Amino acid sequence: MRAPRLLVIGIDGATLDLIGPWAREGKLPALRGLMESGVTKPLRSTLPPVTPVAWSSFLTGADPGGHGIYSFFRLDHSSYRPLPVHAGHRRLPSFWQSLSQAGVAVGQFNTPFTYPVEPLNGFAVAGFDTPTFGRGAAYPDGAFETALNGDHGYVHGPVPLAPRETYHERLRKQAMTQVRMCGRLLQRWPCDVFMVTFCATDHGAHRLWPLGATTEEVARVGGDVLEAYQVADEAIGEILERHADDGTTVLVVSDHGMGPAEGAVNMTRVLAEAGLLRVRPEAGRDNSIPLRLRAVRGVRRFFRDGAGRVLKPLALRLMPERAKAAVAHTELSSIDWERTLAFPWGTYGQVQINREGEWAEGCVGPRDADAVARDVTQAFEELRDPASAGPVIDEVAPAEEIYAEERAPGSPDLLVIPHDYSYDIGPYLQSPEGPPVANSHTDGGEWIDVPAIHRLEGTLIASGPCADRISELESPRLEDIASVILRIAGVSSDGESVSTQPDGSPYTEEQARQVERHLEDLGYL
Ligand SMILES: [Zn+2]
Repeated sequence: MRAPRLLVIGIDGATLDLIGPWAREGKLPALRGLMESGVTKPLRSTLPPVTPVAWSSFLTGADPGGHGIYSFFRLDHSSYRPLPVHAGHRRLPSFWQSLSQAGVAVGQFNTPFTYPVEPLNGFAVAGFDTPTFGRGAAYPDGAFETALNGDHGYVHGPVPLAPRETYHERLRKQAMTQVRMCGRLLQRWPCDVFMVTFCATDHGAHRLWPLGATTEEVARVGGDVLEAYQVADEAIGEILERHADDGTTVLVVSDHGMGPAEGAVNMTRVLAEAGLLRVRPEAGRDNSIPLRLRAVRGVRRFFRDGAGRVLKPLALRLMPERAKAAVAHTELSSIDWERTLAFPWGTYGQVQINREGEWAEGCVGPRDADAVARDVTQAFEELRDPASAGPVIDEVAPAEEIYAEERAPGSPDLLVIPHDYSYDIGPYLQSPEGPPVANSHTDGGEWIDVPAIHRLEGTLIASGPCADRISELESPRLEDIASVILRIAGVSSDGESVSTQPDGSPYTEEQARQVERHLEDLGYL
């Protein structure tokens, strides 16, 4: 089997703040080997630095304004309901298309948010967000089955946390199965450019980071987070051993970094207190609203203690559908749209102005939109941490300032950027009764859903004959990598900006719920 000329290894959410010290101490031998023989740089992610947005920029070389993926969700303009995004919503083709058109043999395995996969000159197996292995999850048809070849008990989505005592073992089993799957795919379809992505770094850190621990403490102590990184490192070592030779250039790319959640911002409450968002007054009389509040409170209490944390995936599976939906959609579903000027959505600071003609119950006319944007900005910029009295928000950025490309539909109007990216900020985080800002240390986790959240700087490591392509980049951004890959493969980008995917959702209702369950399990809902 010939080795690919270019091997791209994705490690979701891996931060250099941890890889650096752990590699130096010999705790991540495969990454250490690449770093010693090559070049290592921080890699700037997208705004917001979340997985679907970031990998879409990696794939297309465009910022979110260009590719049109702004969050895990997009909002339906008539119902205000959040719907999961998938690669079919992406407006631009990936670099895999340019490589395929140039006749380069390619293969990709497990890159997040590549479902439904594009047909290409080789093979593709979509990432963890894939609902089921039916149509659209792999190319050509049967590629997934070829890869699996009867391997038992493979979990393609996020590995459930429970039972906690076997979590790392199951994480490792998943990664090692993926290594074998890559081997079978490359045996069947040898290629020149190959990419595999491992997610243990992101999924493990989100769940296992000790609440309130600094990055330096985690780097020093290691513990559960180190063990998750070691799962990825071992898998990378195996891939290098089996599929790289002296002629292979290796790129290691993470889509964003990770660090502790200093606290959480309750966007719904902030906008409500500023008079920009109203919760329905009849909420108290509506049976479903107390149920929602009770469900949120009960679930929070349950997850706060150790047993609840361990049992979270199980608990979510066992909860009645109505309560699950309530947990996910509490704030948005209780909003009085006719009297709401601005509302939060997405999972990271996105704010929409409820414009007339754009939203079913839009009530902000064109002349008032700027004033509403100013009020939103002021409401967030005034926030202070209840424990430290320090700033909570660095900037409320209008989309036209942060997205250089002409904006695709679905863009937020404003993006609220937390101080040092260290506050969890989304509409699903807290019930309306929660405080505007919670602190991880003083609120004991009561209002904190995940102990670690994304940072702007991910990781870029290059080794092998073409590593100097990375040395040339001064402050690399995720969007720069597609053109580097094309140059290493000797292909010029055609820059064509056309949709490669048919319109409409490839999800059935059940598949959409499956995707939502995966996101719930990771704490995004
Ligand atoms: Zn990610």
